[in-house]
Amino acid sequence: RWSRVKGRLRSSVGEDVYSSWFARMDLESVHDESVHLSVPTRFLKSWIQTHYSDKVLSCWQAELPEVNRVDLTVRSPVRCATPAKEVPAPVESRRDEQRPSAERSNGATPVSANHDALGGSPLDPRLTFASFVVGRSNTLAHAAAKQVAEGRRGDPVMFNPLYIHSGVGLGKTHLLQAVTWAGNAGTERKVLYLTAEKFMYGFVAALKTQTSLAFKEALRGIDVLVIDDLQFLQGKTTQAEFCHTLNALIDAGRQVVVAADRPPADLESLDERVRSRLAGGLVVEMAPLGEDLRLGILRSRVVAARTHHASFDVPQPVLEYLARTITHNGRDLEGAINRLLAHSKLNNQPVTLEMAEHEVRDLIRPSEPKRIKIEDIQRIVARQYNVSRSDLLSSRRTANVVRPRQVAMYLAKTLTLRSLPEIGRRFGGRDHTTVLHAVRKIEGLVSKDTTLSDEVESLKRQLQE
Ligand code: ADP
Ligand code: MG
Repeated sequence: RWSRVKGRLRSSVGEDVYSSWFARMDLESVHDESVHLSVPTRFLKSWIQTHYSDKVLSCWQAELPEVNRVDLTVRSPVRCATPAKEVPAPVESRRDEQRPSAERSNGATPVSANHDALGGSPLDPRLTFASFVVGRSNTLAHAAAKQVAEGRRGDPVMFNPLYIHSGVGLGKTHLLQAVTWAGNAGTERKVLYLTAEKFMYGFVAALKTQTSLAFKEALRGIDVLVIDDLQFLQGKTTQAEFCHTLNALIDAGRQVVVAADRPPADLESLDERVRSRLAGGLVVEMAPLGEDLRLGILRSRVVAARTHHASFDVPQPVLEYLARTITHNGRDLEGAINRLLAHSKLNNQPVTLEMAEHEVRDLIRPSEPKRIKIEDIQRIVARQYNVSRSDLLSSRRTANVVRPRQVAMYLAKTLTLRSLPEIGRRFGGRDHTTVLHAVRKIEGLVSKDTTLSDEVESLKRQLQE
């Protein structure tokens, strides 16, 4: 009977949804009017409860009309650290044998992660731990990535997923590829590096050719899944599939590493549940490159260039000048060294400060305005008005909380690029019309009420500091 119920579920929600959410649901028992089902994770349980509980019940009732209750429980609670014995055997050993051993044992092969059913995204052989410069702004991200890369099959997983975020050009891709190279250097583990786009493409292609099962199996046969630029993951079905993959891997004690240009809470197009699952591991931000780090990166680039151009040198004052003036983006630092190299080779001249000033003019940008976060707004507004941040997020409607809350929403709208619904969500799950009302209210008041407008100005200054 259970298989007939499953059949009904499958045809009512479709194969895709079924395999994403119900494939791992088991029947525990049936007692008169109530049915007891189980799933392996709390996450699956809550997802099925909120989205499909009516469906599940009606599919049962179609088979057994007396059923009026379906209980869903979590089979074995899964914690982040999954002991080795619970990790299912990998399904990949056969493919391993077919691969030339040189390719397996040698991390320097410039191919993407070894995977037949699913090609990884291309890897850049220069992006390794050896060439990654560690400084204050990336110490934690580097340590976490290193830890992941050095893990062995079956080791307890310390943090899952590892989520690294930062602005563009600050080393996310470098770190992720370093993890992939290091992981694949040994024969033991399988690390797959995919951009979110590649993940979508792989999934869509698999759907078209009816091989989506193979795609899913392939994904599940790896030890570490590395996904870059997650902010580009789009489309309901791929997101559901991503979510499913994430669950399956994490539950099996496999490591997931993700990079994106923003924190999980700000991935607006992603489903709430994916966001919270992503936020549930270790989230590390890489701050903009500090001057010491910029200097370190420049030096390492010069050293790298000298392996082919032994006479190339960049005097210390030039390096310092570049580190001071080229801010934020690692790509620009690399570009600057490349230009100096090209210029000095072509003209057969040593690098001078003057040459540097001329060559990198366009890379020097006035420092960009600071990106303000909603949390900072809430924190600073709360402090100014002597209320707590949780008061701002609460449903309390007393005047001493309502006004600061409105001011905070107003600042969130004017100082960040977040949408009204997003702001509402970040303020304790309020409706976008509430946010709009607050914004209009404060806009109206600042033009009349000088005390308020002074307060708002002072808050803006504090936030921009
Ligand atoms: P993101 O993926 O965050 O946009 P990338 O990883 O592509 O940034 O980095 C941009 C460039 O800066 C790359 O050439 C990278 O090697 C270099 N880079 C960034 N951070 C570092 C670092 N800490 N050490 C060495 N190179 C770095
Ligand atoms: Mg990148």
